[in-house]
Amino acid sequence: ETPKPKAATLVTADQVDAQRRGLMLVLSSPSGAGKSTIARMLLEREKGLELSISVTTRPRRSYEEDGVHYHFVSQERFFEMRDGGELLEWAEVHGNYYATPRAPVESAIESGRDILFDIDIKGTFQLYEKMREDVVSIFVLPPSIEDMKKRLKGRGEDEDAVILRRMETAVGEMRHWVRYDYVVVNEVLDRAYEAVRSVLRAERHKQARSAAIGPFIEGMVSDLQDALD
Ligand code: 5GP
Repeated sequence: ETPKPKAATLVTADQVDAQRRGLMLVLSSPSGAGKSTIARMLLEREKGLELSISVTTRPRRSYEEDGVHYHFVSQERFFEMRDGGELLEWAEVHGNYYATPRAPVESAIESGRDILFDIDIKGTFQLYEKMREDVVSIFVLPPSIEDMKKRLKGRGEDEDAVILRRMETAVGEMRHWVRYDYVVVNEVLDRAYEAVRSVLRAERHKQARSAAIGPFIEGMVSDLQDALD
C-alpha cells in the first residue's frame, strides 16, 4: 500500500500567516472625541497597519499635508472619481465631500495588510454594505459633552459656527452607536488606545480571515490520525 501524502506539510504555519486577508479597521466618532489622536498612535505603534487616505474637497488646514492627511481635490475631480467607480464609499460632511479611494484598500487587504479608516458613519455603513466581513468598526466616544467642547475649541482652527455644526452632527451620529462592533469611551487616552489596540489584535486572529487555516488544521488532524493508526 502506498503511504498517504503528509497533509500537514502542504500548508505550513507561515503560510497561514501569509495568506491572512487584511482587515478594515474603522474608527468613527463625533469630532472632539480624540479619535484622530488614537488613530495616530495606532499607526505609529502597530506594525502591518496603514491609513486609508481619503480624498476631500474641504480646504486644507494649516498643519495638513496633501497626500498625507488627505488627497485634496476639486469638486469636479471628486465627481469624476465617483462617477468613474474609483470610490469605495463617499459622503458629504459639513458641506464638503469626502471619500475612500477603492484601489489602495483592495490591494492592501488582498495582500494581508490591515487598513485604518477615519471616516464618518455614513461611510462606515456603505462599507458594511460592500464588505461587511472585512470591516471591524469601533465607535469612540468622549467622556462628556463638556470635554468634547473643550477639545473642539482647543483645536483653535475652526470658528464657533463650525463647532456648533459639528456638535449638531455629533448628536445625530451618536444615535447610531448600536451598529458599531465595539464602543470605546476615551476618558484616559492611554486606556482608550489600549482598548482599540486589543480589538485590532484579537480581530487579526478571526479564523474567517485566513483562507489557509482550514487546510492547515485538517492536515494536522490527518497526520495525527495516521500516527495513531
Ligand atoms: P475633518 O474635516 O475634520 O477632517 O473630517 C470631518 C469628518 O469627515 C470626520 O468625521 C471624518 O471622519 C469624516 N471623513 C474623513 N474622510 C472620510 C471619508 O473618506 N469618507 C467618509 N464617509 N467620511 C470621511
